[in-house]
Amino acid sequence: VLDAGHGGRDQGTSAGSILEKEINLSVVKRLAGILEDAGAAVLLTREDDTKVGLEDRANFANQKEAEFFVSIHCNYCEDDAGVIGLECYYRDGSTEGEALANQIVSRMEETEENSCRGTRIGDFRVLNKTEMPAVLVEIGYLSNQGERMKLADEAYQKLLTPNGHRN
Ligand code: ZN
Repeated sequence: VLDAGHGGRDQGTSAGSILEKEINLSVVKRLAGILEDAGAAVLLTREDDTKVGLEDRANFANQKEAEFFVSIHCNYCEDDAGVIGLECYYRDGSTEGEALANQIVSRMEETEENSCRGTRIGDFRVLNKTEMPAVLVEIGYLSNQGERMKLADEAYQKLLTPNGHRN
């Protein structure tokens, strides 16, 4: 199950006309296509600009007995516009979630254009309520102008996905 954070009236973070909810959905759809091409059965918690509750997202994954849950978000740092990079969160005590987070981060570190801030334990509802290995990926900071422009750029979004390449 792939989970595009926020949606509908819940825009997530934003900077001018760049909205987190839109970037999340765009990245999730791209990721879904790649995973489906690789033979995975992919389900999305939302496929358009609608609001879905946090528990509903987790319940959906639980009911579908998903093998993995991946939630995509964008970050924002109020205090320091210089902060950039991807972070991957897993729930405390989940060794499988930690392993998945480590795999995602080590794969992302191969992508030179993306800076990575590593894996962390995260106290997020979608992680605490899901029953399978689950991660929440903050793919970058909308508070940083350079990263914001990259995150909103489809060419860069390609780099964030597993089969992304630079050509
Ligand atoms: Zn978010």
